Amino acid sequence: MDEAAESIGVRPPGDSIIDTRYWHVLADGRVQCDVCPRACKLRDGQRGLCFVRGAEAGRIKLFSYGRSSGFCVDPIEKKPLNNFLPGTSVLSFGTAGCLLACKFCQNWDMSKSREMDTLADSASPEDLAATAERLGCASIAFTYNDPVVFMEYAMDAADACRARGIKSVAVTAGYMCAEPRIEFYRHMDAANVDLKAFTESFYYKICGGALAPVLETLEYLKTESNVWLEITTLLIPGENDSDAELNQLTQWVADKLGPDVPLHFTAFHPDWKMRDKSCTPPATLTRARNIALANGLHYAYTGNIHDRKGGSTYCPHCGTAVIERDWYELGRWRLADSGACKSCGTQIAGVFAGEPGTWGARRVGVRISPQYQ
Ligand code: SF4
Repeated sequence: MDEAAESIGVRPPGDSIIDTRYWHVLADGRVQCDVCPRACKLRDGQRGLCFVRGAEAGRIKLFSYGRSSGFCVDPIEKKPLNNFLPGTSVLSFGTAGCLLACKFCQNWDMSKSREMDTLADSASPEDLAATAERLGCASIAFTYNDPVVFMEYAMDAADACRARGIKSVAVTAGYMCAEPRIEFYRHMDAANVDLKAFTESFYYKICGGALAPVLETLEYLKTESNVWLEITTLLIPGENDSDAELNQLTQWVADKLGPDVPLHFTAFHPDWKMRDKSCTPPATLTRARNIALANGLHYAYTGNIHDRKGGSTYCPHCGTAVIERDWYELGRWRLADSGACKSCGTQIAGVFAGEPGTWGARRVGVRISPQYQ
């Protein structure tokens, strides 16, 4: 164990700067962050691309522990997770900074922020867990920006939640190195991973990243972890929505991850540095879903649109609509408490706990830091 690893856990109350574990010293004296494949090489005083991790005193530190850009109670379907505790509410929060540089970012005000003002709210892991419990949330979600960049805070919050029987959800790009990935997901119960496209050129030119590490994370989650996994692909007209690419992507999911990993196709709206593209037509989402179903996936969804057919969950054996869904609103429910289809008894893949939640489509802002209470 290196010196940095031994220093983990030194977290003075109220201090948002903490030591981290995954880094090493380079021959030229710089330190390299080993959390994501970007591998930022930094001198003291420099921040990584994510801006919330940086070099100080010859080691990599996290500068945003316990800081947040805001809290909301959402439907779990908004993450999106359709086969994980349907109908329940989730306490969502994020910090600032991201490890990719997607030109189409739909959360750029937080993910691209370099202002600590964005992190105006603060909460200890225990505060988060207590708030989730008080508000009746079944889970907490690390979302808005990628929790990989604030993994130490997310893991501590997940542990505090687990102690109260509340589950933890990571909404992430899956762009992470192997060693921290194992530690991070040990603390998580579910993940929605963005699979932004199925070409290296898209990841390189549009996201400033790479596809291969994301595929590794997906395979790791499905084959080596107990984390419930769903995938989201945001379809951008003319960039990642060709029949050929969607065919390759969904075939890969079926072959490598199996037919039971839910796949969500969601609609793009022009934002950040990609304002020259039009919104995704609903027909594109339906076309993508049909390709996924043709390639054998059991749970393919359209998202961000009113589409009862494309948003519902069907029994893969008898075809019954076991969970009717219109955007985030649940309709008829035809599952036994165990998650089995009431018509034929086939077990539906997912995490189910009896009757569905009744949160509906509401979105409620929450303040946690003492100054707001
Ligand atoms: S987590 Fe941040 S600092 Fe570390 S390699 Fe990734 S972008 Fe760089």
